[in-house]
Amino acid sequence: MAAEFVLILNAGSSSLKFSIFETTDGESWKLDAKGSIEGLGSSPRLSIKNSAGSQIADQDLDRQVGGREALDILSEWLRKQYAGAQLQGVGHRVVHGGDRYRRPVLVDHETLEDLRRLIPLAPLHQPHNLNAIEAVFERFRCVPQVACFDTSFHRVHAPVAELIPLPWEICERMGLRRYGFHGLSFEYISSVLPKVAPEIARGRVIVAHLGNGASLCAIRNGKSVDCSSSYTALDGVCMGTRPGAVDPGAILRLFQGCGLSVADVECILYEKSGLLGISGISNDMRLLLASKDSRAALAVDYFVYQVSKQMGALVAVLGGLDGVVFTAGVGENSAEIRRRVCEAATWLGVKIDADANERRASRITTADSKVSAWVIPTNEELMIALHTGQLLGLMHAKA
Ligand code: AMP
Repeated sequence: MAAEFVLILNAGSSSLKFSIFETTDGESWKLDAKGSIEGLGSSPRLSIKNSAGSQIADQDLDRQVGGREALDILSEWLRKQYAGAQLQGVGHRVVHGGDRYRRPVLVDHETLEDLRRLIPLAPLHQPHNLNAIEAVFERFRCVPQVACFDTSFHRVHAPVAELIPLPWEICERMGLRRYGFHGLSFEYISSVLPKVAPEIARGRVIVAHLGNGASLCAIRNGKSVDCSSSYTALDGVCMGTRPGAVDPGAILRLFQGCGLSVADVECILYEKSGLLGISGISNDMRLLLASKDSRAALAVDYFVYQVSKQMGALVAVLGGLDGVVFTAGVGENSAEIRRRVCEAATWLGVKIDADANERRASRITTADSKVSAWVIPTNEELMIALHTGQLLGLMHAKA
């Protein structure tokens, strides 16, 4: 068959990330190119690499380039690069599917409007995700679009795991519940476990997605049971610039004691807390690990402490543990953080293999470790491509 392509978009407030996947057999997707336009609204820059990782575009863009212009630039590049090829679909990462969207969905104008109702639940991400869908409707009129939600994988949690213990009527009216995020990453990891780590695939697994955003997911037999993130992506473990769990009383105090506005507090919670807030230096784990500053060290200690504490809580939910998976920027690349988290989990039966961990082997625990630990690179884009291909009928049905 002729090659078929899908475009995968992850549109944020200051960046547009994209990947192009190709299939020639209708059975699997192969990455063809991956890139981003970062610095939207400040100093935008286009960067694209091919499947071998070689740079095929790298240029500064006009300062005026915002989200819509970024899509114009991408469409123009696509038309040149893939002249004559038919784009079969566009798959989007959409952060919030609320209670209604429990799986990926083909988006029409009505669905788009419905998804806009969820903007208050994710004000910093949802509008950009949806604006990208609208912009694609305008530019590629006949190309079908699929929305894949970061919340969907968690929509099988027990009611007790979803509760937010505020007045019932307020929660009902405002949709306050523990939705959970990073679902596409957890779903991808769960989907590859049978091949990569078959001995734990049907067991009790904690996946630690440790990147600039970080959360842990408790998985039993491939399904999400609970996770550390909650109503918004602020809750749970400490992140690059977000605090993770904080006493709500401390937030009230910001309003009462410092006279800060809602916008000020939102900015503190999303952009100035977590590793950056503690260290006062950076949200980048690499810099903090390399720093001799005592607050940088404290920030790393707090990160490891909270990840370990959350892991203990999720083990209680699972009633035991068979495996741990590390993924995302920190989880995939920092042997030190993995070592420290594994050492803190010695009581659970995790026995790290120092050499395997340094080499970033797939399995990083000793053969006699009661609980195995693994490093598995996440691939949210591929997960979106798979959903998009399935929904659009681009993949042959497997027998
Ligand atoms: P992500 O959000 O998954 O792209 O992860 C980004 C984060 O990964 C960055 O903020 C870095 O702090 C972290 N990171 C990437 N490489 C390393 C490394 N070699 N050691 C420690 N942290 C790293």
